Amino acid sequence: MSHSSRIGLMPLWLALLLIFSLSWCFAQPHGRTEINIPDIPGYLTLKCDFHSHTVFSDGDVWPTVRVEEAWLQGLDAIAITDHIEYQIHSDDIKKNHNRPYAIARSRAAELGIILIKGAEITRDMPPGHFNALFLNDIDPLDTKDWRDALKAANDQGAFVFWNHPGWRQPNEIPIWYDEHTELLQRGWFQGIEIVNEYSFYPKAFQWAQEKNLTILGNSDVHSPIHLTYDVSAGQHRPITLVFAKERSEAGIHQALRTQHTAVYHNNLVIGSAQFLAPIFETAVHIIPLRVAIKGTGRATVQIQNRSGLLFELMATNALEEISFPETILLYPEKTVAIQLKGKSKTLTGKKHIALPFLVKNFLSTPDRGLPVSLTIEIEFISDI
Ligand code: ZN
Repeated sequence: MSHSSRIGLMPLWLALLLIFSLSWCFAQPHGRTEINIPDIPGYLTLKCDFHSHTVFSDGDVWPTVRVEEAWLQGLDAIAITDHIEYQIHSDDIKKNHNRPYAIARSRAAELGIILIKGAEITRDMPPGHFNALFLNDIDPLDTKDWRDALKAANDQGAFVFWNHPGWRQPNEIPIWYDEHTELLQRGWFQGIEIVNEYSFYPKAFQWAQEKNLTILGNSDVHSPIHLTYDVSAGQHRPITLVFAKERSEAGIHQALRTQHTAVYHNNLVIGSAQFLAPIFETAVHIIPLRVAIKGTGRATVQIQNRSGLLFELMATNALEEISFPETILLYPEKTVAIQLKGKSKTLTGKKHIALPFLVKNFLSTPDRGLPVSLTIEIEFISDI
């Protein structure tokens, strides 16, 4: 091949290369990953993050990026909640409390992300930081006195919650001040973060149960989300699970007002048994529902976990008729086979046996797992 013909071929290779490069530009490098947490009877399970920041306060990203991240990570709803009193980029980006929502709104609509207009009232402890959601206009919350800010939020019908109550407290243990009693008596806050970023505050969960506050778990993300949580390694941001009648802003508002939430943090699911039990029951299935055991022989059953959640089961007591594993790990979207072993040579007849477990990583109170049972019909056959 002559030198000149080789040069003549080069533009073809270049053209092909260009076509390939262009097709890469238009291809999606990665798409949305759904979070597989089932709906429960009567409610949709919406995955939400109600605390995030942008360059309009002390965050590092543009408002539309928060929407893109939420879409990629399988969320249904987010709130951008920039600090009202704290803008570190004000030399470059002028203070405008209503702007982040206005900027992000159309992208959210395109991607089907419910974007809730919010703001963070950022005051010294007490009373600390509060997020207000479902605001119409954030400007009236920019007041000198924190009481006026909280009142202005409530005057707009906002849902208000106390953020990271353990932040900057000794050992991150939250302290309830007189100011919080005052705010609660006035009805000026309705929820509390029991998880913020990497921190879980069991004390806040206890208060929520005692005082009928809605529990929330949020990322409070400032950087691009993948710099805070390594999604490729299986990490996820804290998520507020909202049990709503409909997938809409109104549906979420209604659910937040009626304490219809739980919190998904690392491998923990935290909330009242009213919501945690149906998640377990919807996700976990025993196959087959009937087996036979002859004398002290064995039967194999499979336990299928149809959700993306981990369940760490621990037996709570022994049974008279059979022995069964003391611990079972139900990994996300996996099925395990376990063995049941008869204890009596003479037992006969059909019985419904409930295997009693505690789901250790489902906290229905600050220090206790969720009691559940797996029921199976066993036909016992005498072996004499
Ligand atoms: Zn914040």
